[in-house]
Amino acid sequence: MKILSFMICLLALLSCGKSSSKKSSNENQDVSTIYSATEIKIQVYYEPGAEPYTDELPLLSLKLWDLFQVNMNSLFEGRNTKVSIPKSLEEMKKTKDFNKATWTTDEVLAMSQSYSTLEKGLVFQIFFVNGSASDNSEIIGFHISGTKTMVIFKDVIARSTNGDALVPKYVEQATLIHEMGHALGLVNNGLPMTTPHHDKNHSAHCSNENCVMYYANEGAGSLIKYVSKIKEEKTLIMFDQQCLSDSRSYKQQ
Ligand SMILES: [Zn+2]
Ligand SMILES: [Zn+2]
Repeated sequence: MKILSFMICLLALLSCGKSSSKKSSNENQDVSTIYSATEIKIQVYYEPGAEPYTDELPLLSLKLWDLFQVNMNSLFEGRNTKVSIPKSLEEMKKTKDFNKATWTTDEVLAMSQSYSTLEKGLVFQIFFVNGSASDNSEIIGFHISGTKTMVIFKDVIARSTNGDALVPKYVEQATLIHEMGHALGLVNNGLPMTTPHHDKNHSAHCSNENCVMYYANEGAGSLIKYVSKIKEEKTLIMFDQQCLSDSRSYKQQ
């Protein structure tokens, strides 16, 4: 099992996976099941104190979670697949208090299994929790390889601010989009590539720095800078064309 993590490093660009100690295995996502589904259900759980942001985005006349929705819709463009996403706290599920400062991958997995869904169909589960990853307190979240489970560390998101109150909200949406990208087989994580854009040195990431699936461990930019640019440009789709093409072009073998 490996984890594909999404780090925030205030001096780095979008970073992900570097700190994982379990990334050496290579368990790809089962994309044939995913891409033959007519509906993909996303369930969101939150620990008290780790509630997702669910406000409006006044600049765009959207709800925040519409950013996640339009990015998922974009991946599935041309298919008869509905992606169902909750957009308000009422549609999300509250967990118990875990009282944990740090989480290992195994602990996240065990916790997620205690919330196993009764829903039928293809269900992805995203858990917002307090605390941080045990091996790196800067990781925002990760997808557990070979599963449909993701975790997001709200404390890390809440402190990812440059004074602009909208930035942590965009960071949260970018993280959701990034982790679901991994869960859906990006990049080269089960989904065959239509053009070479796999940044092989950085786990399952895209080589295009303007893509939400990009990983970079240095540079003048930062995740904050990345989302600030997206916000200023009112960009809705955070995937680049190469990642979109991989998803849109996939055909059952
Ligand atoms: Zn990643
Ligand atoms: Zn990409």
